[in-house]
Amino acid sequence: MAETHEFQSDIAKLLRLLSQSLYQNREVAVRELVSNASDALDKYRLLSLREEDVPTADDLQIVVTPDAEAKTLTIADNGVGMTHDDLIENLGTIAHSGTEGFSQGLEGNDADSLIGQFGVGFYAAFMLAESVEVRTRSYREEGGWKWTSAGTGSFEIDQIAMPEHGTEVVLHLRDDAKDFADPQRVEYVLKRYSSFVPHPIRLAGLSS
Ligand code: ADP
Ligand code: MG
Repeated sequence: MAETHEFQSDIAKLLRLLSQSLYQNREVAVRELVSNASDALDKYRLLSLREEDVPTADDLQIVVTPDAEAKTLTIADNGVGMTHDDLIENLGTIAHSGTEGFSQGLEGNDADSLIGQFGVGFYAAFMLAESVEVRTRSYREEGGWKWTSAGTGSFEIDQIAMPEHGTEVVLHLRDDAKDFADPQRVEYVLKRYSSFVPHPIRLAGLSS
C-alpha cells in the first residue's frame, strides 16, 4: 500500500517555482543528481572502511541512462541508499544545505536568480522532469522503497524489491526537456559539469 506524504510548505513553493522557471541552465539538474550519487558512494566507502559488517565494494560507480523511447533519464548509484525514514527526511523537508539558502531567499526574490545563486539540490530534478521516481535500498536493509512525485504538493512512498543497495533516480522528462534523453547531449553535460567527480561515471547507450 502506497503512503502519501505532504511536502513541507517551503518545498511545495520551491517546486512550483522550479517547474514554472524559465531558468536557462537546466543542465545543473544533472550535476546535482550526479553529485548526490557521488556523495552516496563516498558514504558507502567510508562505512565499509569503518564498520566490520559492511562489506567492501570494489565496483562503486554511477550509471547514467538516457532512454529516448521511455523519455527518461536515470541516474543510478550503488551507494548507501535510503531507508523509508531517510526518504521522508531527505526528500521531503528543506533542512539540507543545498536548499536552505534558497528557501531563505524565497521571499520576494525571483526564482531564476535564486537557482543561479544557490543551486537547489535534488529538487532541481523537477526542472527536467514532470515526475520523478526514486528507487532506493539502504545498505542496512533487505528491501527497497520507491518515492514518487509529480512535484506538486505531495509524494508517495511504496515498498519495492531491490537486489542491491543504492539509489536510482528516474526522471520522466518534460516535453521541453526531451533532449536529456539523448546520450550525446547527456555526454556533453557530464563532461561539462561532472568531470571532477571522484567515481567512475558510466553512460549507457552511447554507441561509437
Ligand atoms: P544536499 O546534497 O546538499 O544534502 P540535496 O537536495 O541534493 O541536498 O539532497 C538531499 C539529501 O537526500 C542528501 O543529503 C542525501 O541524504 C539524500 N540523497 C539524495 N540523493 C541521494 C542518493 N543518490 N543516495 C543517497 N541519498 C541521497
Ligand atoms: Mg546534493
